[in-house]
Amino acid sequence: MIASPLSLEDARARDAADPLRGLRSRFGLPRNDRGEPLLYLCGHSLGLMPLAARDEVAQELEDWERLGVIGHHSARRPWIPYQEALRPQIAQLVGCRDDEVVLMNSLTVNLHLMLASFYRPAGARRSILIEAGAFPSDRYAVISQLQWHGLDPRESLIELAAQPGEDVIREEAIESVLVRRGAQIALVLWPGVQYLTGQAFDLARIAAAARHAGAVIGFDLAHSVGNMPLMLGESEPDFAVWCSYKYLNAGPGAIAGCYVNARHFAEPGRQRLAGWWGHEMATRFEMTHDFRAAQGAPGFQVSNQSTLSTAPLIASLSIFREAGMARLRAKTLALSAFLGRLLAERTPELQPVTPPETAARGAQLSLRIDGGATRGRGVFSWLTQHEVVCDWREPDIIRVSHVPLYNSFEDVFNFAECLRRALRETE
Ligand SMILES: *Cc1c(COP(=O)(O)O)cnc(C)c1O
Repeated sequence: MIASPLSLEDARARDAADPLRGLRSRFGLPRNDRGEPLLYLCGHSLGLMPLAARDEVAQELEDWERLGVIGHHSARRPWIPYQEALRPQIAQLVGCRDDEVVLMNSLTVNLHLMLASFYRPAGARRSILIEAGAFPSDRYAVISQLQWHGLDPRESLIELAAQPGEDVIREEAIESVLVRRGAQIALVLWPGVQYLTGQAFDLARIAAAARHAGAVIGFDLAHSVGNMPLMLGESEPDFAVWCSYKYLNAGPGAIAGCYVNARHFAEPGRQRLAGWWGHEMATRFEMTHDFRAAQGAPGFQVSNQSTLSTAPLIASLSIFREAGMARLRAKTLALSAFLGRLLAERTPELQPVTPPETAARGAQLSLRIDGGATRGRGVFSWLTQHEVVCDWREPDIIRVSHVPLYNSFEDVFNFAECLRRALRETE
């Protein structure tokens, strides 16, 4: 028997059975001039606004207006300990102890701070290993750190590429380079989910291989946090960094996150670029001459924190708490499987770049448009004109994401239909 093609009714039936369907109404959905919602599939780039974020931000503005400096202690959420209530929730999302996480700065700044502490080239062990095609900001950060230490990136940066003809980088290849060149490698910086291909990695396996080679291991979780279930307590990297504006929906430029593994807390001599906010809380305001680091990840803070860029995260985390990561992950996989079937029916000529295995995927799907950049850009601009919000990465990749908090099976269905028409009408 030949199964009939999936229909809009199939999508609607899945939405009706979705226990998380009600969460969509808690987010602002971008709209066109006529007030109709766009087809938003770009949560991998900027998550949508939790409507409750407005009140959280307004509360800080009101308290500032009403209290001035007194708000540090007496705001409804006092500003000095503002993030204390959030750290356990963040720790739960990344799967670690509360004192191993801190909210501070933005992602690339945190990466630099962590590299300042953990990238300590010595003797022959000087190289940094990253994936080929890394997010440019990470690559710039790593190269400038090598140069900061007087090293030549042409010698000391190792970029591991996929096998010819493949897009995904196999964990075996990472293990193998760590065996072959391990004695040279001081630090491995690896993404949890690769931003371009959407490939999710086995982080425990990569961390174990790095440790075995004697290298420091840091993760960039920009595309993982709020997307994949994470267990840093099991993979135990030395450090990890992430932003909060992608799957964590905390708004453009929101406060970022940082993890430091507890085994580093006992090292009094751990180098860091210090500032007063990393000073131990009890004596921070005595304004003493000598820096004494706070226990745990908070000891890596530099400046006092922006409450306005943290407030929206409070609204988002409360939705995460309600939904639960297990249910979100189950919906991600259901959306992914549904989209996979739809595309196989409607656009069989398209090549998904993201690996098909569920463990290697989150909410993002990257699709290669054959026929060169001009064709690809044509398809992408057709989608844009038809109010599909996704993104385009040179030379030939369209990225979409189905975020379980606010995307529906109907969204995914509509996307597959649009893509089919886009391919046909731009031939
Ligand atoms: C989004 C993203 C960034 C952005 O860096 P900012 O410092 O937040 O501007 C950096 N690296 C990766 C891997 C990203 O996905």
